[in-house]
Amino acid sequence: MGKIIQLDDLLSNKIAAGEVVERPASVVKELVENAIDANSTIIEIEVEEAGLSKIRIIDNGDGIEESDVLMAFRRHATSKIKNEKDLFRIRTLGFRGEALPSIASVSRLELKTSTGEEGTRLVLAGGHLEVHEKASARKGTDIQITDLFYNTPARLKYMKTVHTELGNITDIVNRLALSHPEVSFRLVHNDRKLLHTNGNGDVRQVLASIYGLNIVKKMIPIQASSLDFTISGWLAYPEITRASRNYITTMVNGRFIKNYPLVKAIQEGYHTLLPIGRFPIVMINIEMDPILVDVNVHPSKMEVRFSKEAELNQLVAQTIKEAFHTKELIPTGMQRE
Ligand code: ADP
Ligand code: MG
Repeated sequence: MGKIIQLDDLLSNKIAAGEVVERPASVVKELVENAIDANSTIIEIEVEEAGLSKIRIIDNGDGIEESDVLMAFRRHATSKIKNEKDLFRIRTLGFRGEALPSIASVSRLELKTSTGEEGTRLVLAGGHLEVHEKASARKGTDIQITDLFYNTPARLKYMKTVHTELGNITDIVNRLALSHPEVSFRLVHNDRKLLHTNGNGDVRQVLASIYGLNIVKKMIPIQASSLDFTISGWLAYPEITRASRNYITTMVNGRFIKNYPLVKAIQEGYHTLLPIGRFPIVMINIEMDPILVDVNVHPSKMEVRFSKEAELNQLVAQTIKEAFHTKELIPTGMQRE
């Protein structure tokens, strides 16, 4: 007999969860992305104790059919891609089929979902199915996670303060809201409303809900294209700066991403208008053929690799530079050239 064994599903899900579900904010991200992929127009996010005691996401999207519900909790089970070709033209936020099984394996999970017909209710604890029954439900999905990491004590211990974890959650929800102005988001923490966007498609109104109207009044729109890329977004005047890069939101085809070279290109666009160690408030979306971007770099799908990175960064830096030159916003004495 050999020594190598195939790990069972529960254990492999728990191992995958280590990467997919780093902290409460990752759960929020995955579940809200699912709601967006399901064509929801209203998404409510209720969180308690920064997500460690409860995360509940209610959407009015397509719902999951009764015959699919258990399948949704299998590893690498997805309705979003079918074959290798699809992997190179991803338009949905999800595609790895890992979030639900991973989250379920490290929490207690309750799901109510309906496609408009009679709905289904599931309860799982640590990935074990405890309840599976019919339930009356309106169209959409209502998923609730309690006791996150209750069965992974080391991960639980690694959690930072409520303040930090909540900061991560608001950060994620803000970016999801910015990348989907056509969806109404409501984020509530311990009964306190932290964000509400109206879903009317106006990105400026989302910016105002997040940063306040006074900031938005000092933001200018940009729009530019090259052969491969179309960029659009909003830039705060250079005199409005922040101490961290967190106020720079970069998106590709409606997915917010983290890409250091792109942030550098944005900073380069502002050039010397920014004091050292200060960062602008920026929101930028880049539309491109999905073939030009690899989102399958990390399970969190936040890191990407561009195949024409130099062209893209050049376009971004140049567009920002020109935006401030043409608007003549540069106070005299701040230019250096
Ligand atoms: P992925 O999003 O990568 O497909 P997930 O594990 O996040 O994988 O979800 C598995 C499947 O469950 C999805 O492909 C989708 O069909 C279904 N699903 C999950 N959440 C929702 C939701 N809120 N509304 C409708 N369907 C959902
Ligand atoms: Mg998903």
